[in-house]
Amino acid sequence: MNGNGRDRELGMGCEITRRDFLNGISIAVGTSLLAANSTWLEAFGVPQSPFALPFAPEKDPGYYPPAKTGLRGSHDGSWEVAHDLRDGRDKAWAESVDEGESYDLVVVGAGISGLSAAYFYRKLVGKQAKIQILDNHDDFGGHATRNEFQAGKRLLLGYGGTQSIEAPGNYGKEAIGLLQELGIDVRRFFKYYDQKLFDSMHLQEAVFFDKETFGTDRLVPQKGLHYFGVDFTLENVSQMPIAEAARKDLIRLQHARVDYMPGLTPKQKKAKLIKTSYKDFLLQSVKVHPDVVKVFQSSTHDIYAVGVDAVSAYDCAGEGFPGFKGMNLPKSHEENPEQDEPYIFHFPDGNASIARMLVRSLVPGALPGHTMEDIVTARANYARLDDASSTVRIRLNSTAVRARHIGDPDQNPDPAMAKEVEVTYVRGGQAHRVRGANCVLACYNTVIPYLCPEMSDKQKEALAYCVKAPLVYTNVQIGNWQAFQKLGLSAIYAPGAYFSNVTLDFPVSMGDYRYPRSPDESCLLHLLRTPCEPGLNCKDQYRAGRWELVNTKFETFERQVRDQLGRTLSAGGFDPARDIQAITVNRWPHGYAYEYNALFEPLDRPASERPCVIGRQPFGRIKIANSDADGHAYTNTAIDQGYRAVREIVGA
Ligand SMILES: Cc1cc2nc3c(=O)[nH]c(=O)nc-3n(C[C@H](O)[C@H](O)[C@H](O)COP(=O)(O)OP(=O)(O)OC[C@H]3O[C@@H](n4cnc5c(N)ncnc54)[C@H](O)[C@@H]3O)c2cc1C
Repeated sequence: MNGNGRDRELGMGCEITRRDFLNGISIAVGTSLLAANSTWLEAFGVPQSPFALPFAPEKDPGYYPPAKTGLRGSHDGSWEVAHDLRDGRDKAWAESVDEGESYDLVVVGAGISGLSAAYFYRKLVGKQAKIQILDNHDDFGGHATRNEFQAGKRLLLGYGGTQSIEAPGNYGKEAIGLLQELGIDVRRFFKYYDQKLFDSMHLQEAVFFDKETFGTDRLVPQKGLHYFGVDFTLENVSQMPIAEAARKDLIRLQHARVDYMPGLTPKQKKAKLIKTSYKDFLLQSVKVHPDVVKVFQSSTHDIYAVGVDAVSAYDCAGEGFPGFKGMNLPKSHEENPEQDEPYIFHFPDGNASIARMLVRSLVPGALPGHTMEDIVTARANYARLDDASSTVRIRLNSTAVRARHIGDPDQNPDPAMAKEVEVTYVRGGQAHRVRGANCVLACYNTVIPYLCPEMSDKQKEALAYCVKAPLVYTNVQIGNWQAFQKLGLSAIYAPGAYFSNVTLDFPVSMGDYRYPRSPDESCLLHLLRTPCEPGLNCKDQYRAGRWELVNTKFETFERQVRDQLGRTLSAGGFDPARDIQAITVNRWPHGYAYEYNALFEPLDRPASERPCVIGRQPFGRIKIANSDADGHAYTNTAIDQGYRAVREIVGA
C-alpha cells in the first residue's frame, strides 16, 4: 500500500480534537487583544490590527492552555526568543520598555521551583512581599503541566509532564512541609489510586516486538519487563521473535547464579560495573546473543532517557535488571528507596496539581477551592494571574533575556553592592524591563550565562555543563479501551518502536473526578518517546534527541501514534481511524535535569566541585533555583532548590 493509502487507513485525515492549533500555536488567540506591531504575531501569520493595544492574550476569556491539543510542552512560541538570544539574534530587543514596576523579588521560571521560591519567600518575608514571576510558556507549572480532554460532557485529565510524587517518604522536610501546607496528604492516594482495578480485570503488561527491529510485529504478554525485576517464563520467551540462542540466553540471564567477574572483590566489581554499560555487561560478561540486548534496549528510557548502551550495569543492577544474582555485589546497592513505596502518589494531571495549588495559594482568585481534592477539577482563571492588585503576579508568554545588577559594572564591579536587579524579558515581540530587590533564576541552567554574561567564566561553564534530557509525553484520547480488555493489557513496552511505552492512564479518582473504569468509556493512553542516538555518549544523545524534536512536526507524531497503536492493538479490534479522538504531544527538548552519568564522568568528586554546585552559587542579588541546580530531575529537588535560593536571600 502506498503512503497515502496507509495514511487513509490510519485515519490521518480524520477529524480529531485539534481545535485551531497549528503545531500547538493558536491561530485565533484573541487577536483583538494583541499588540499591533508584534513581530511575534507576524511570524505566525496572525493578521495585524491597526490598533496598538497591549499584548495580553491571557485576558481573553477563551484563553485556556490546558485544553489545547496538538504540539504542547515546549510549544512553538515559547522557545524562539531564547534561541535567538543564544544565537546572538537579540538586536530586535535593544529598545526595551521600562514597565516602571518594582518588586521585592522577580522570579524567572514558573515551574515548581520558581513557584516554590515565591511561596517560601512570602512565607519568610511576609504576605506584603511583592513578587513577579516570569515564564516563557503560555501556561504555568513548567514540566508540571496539565492536559485536558473532553469526552462529550465528561472531563478527562492527563499529565503533560511531571508524573507523580515519587517516594514521598524520601522527601526532605521543606518539600514535604510545602506539600502539607498546601493541603496535600499523600496517604489519601491509597484511597484514590485503585491498585486493584487492572488486576481484577486480568490486565497485565506485554512487549510489542516491531517488524522493523525484530522482523515481525508480535505482542507477547510479559509481566514487569520495564524495570524493577523481570519474570520471563519459558512460554513467553518462546513467543519472542528473536534467535533461539537469545531465548536460551534470556532464561539463563534470569536464573543463573553466576559470578561473571570472578576474582574481584564486591567493591572492585562495583567499580567495574559503574564503568560498564548494561549492554556491554550483557555482551561481554554474560555473553548473551545480541538479540537479548535488543529486548532490553529501551527499558531504561523512562528513567534515564537513554538506552542500556548508556546506562551503567551497576545502575541497572539497582533497578532490578537480571544478571546479578550470583555477583555478590555490595549490599547497599539493593536498597532503592523508590521501591519501598508504591508508585501511587499521582494526581490525575500529575504534579501539575502541585503547581496549581501553589498558584492558588499565591494569587488570589486564580483558582477556586481549598483542598487537594477540589484542585483536580478547578478551572484556572488566567486573566487573574498578572493583576496589578495582587502582591504576587505571574506573567506568562514572557522570556527573560537579561538579568543585571543596576549600576555601571565598570564603576561598581561588585554585584553584591547593587541595590536592585533589572530583568528584561520579551513578550509579544517587545522587550520590557522590571526591577526587583532580589531575583531568583528558576529557569534552565543553560540559559543563565546568557542572562548574566557578567558572571565568572567558571560559573558560566559550570552552568553550561548541564544538558537536559529530551522526552515526549503524548496523551491520546480513545473512544473506548475495549481492545485493552480483550487483549488483557494495561501497559506495553516496545523496545524497538517509536514510542517505547504505551500505558493506560493511572486509575485515580478523587474529588469530582472519576477514572473511566469501564472499557466502554473514553480514556487516555500515555505514550513515551525518548529521542536518543544509541552509541553516542549520554550528553550527545540528548543533543541529538533535542535536534530531532525541534525538527519533528505534529503530523509525524500523529502518524506514528496511529501506526503504532494500530499495529499493537489491532488483534483486540482497535482501529486508529475510528478510535482516536484527540492527541496532545508534550514535547520536552529540555526535559529531565542532567543527572551525572557514571559511564561518562566521575561521580566521586567532592560536592563543592560538582558543576551544579559551582553553577548555583549566589551572584550578588541573583540566586539560582530549579532542579538543574541539584542535578536531580525530581519535584522535591525543585522545591528544595527554591527553598535554598530564598534562604540565600533572607539569610539562614
Ligand atoms: C516529562 C517529565 C516527567 C517528569 N516526571 C517526574 C515525576 O514523575 N516525578 C518527579 O518528581 N519529577 C519528575 N520530573 C522532573 C520534574 O518535573 C522536575 O524536576 C521539576 O518539575 C522541575 O521543576 P523546575 O521548576 O526546576 O523546572 P521547570 O519545570 O523546567 O520550570 C522552569 C521554567 O522556567 C522556564 N524558563 C526557562 N528559561 C526561561 C527564560 N529565559 N525566561 C522565562 N522562563 C524561562 C521554563 O520554560 C520552565 O517553564 C519529570 C520531568 C519531565 C520533563
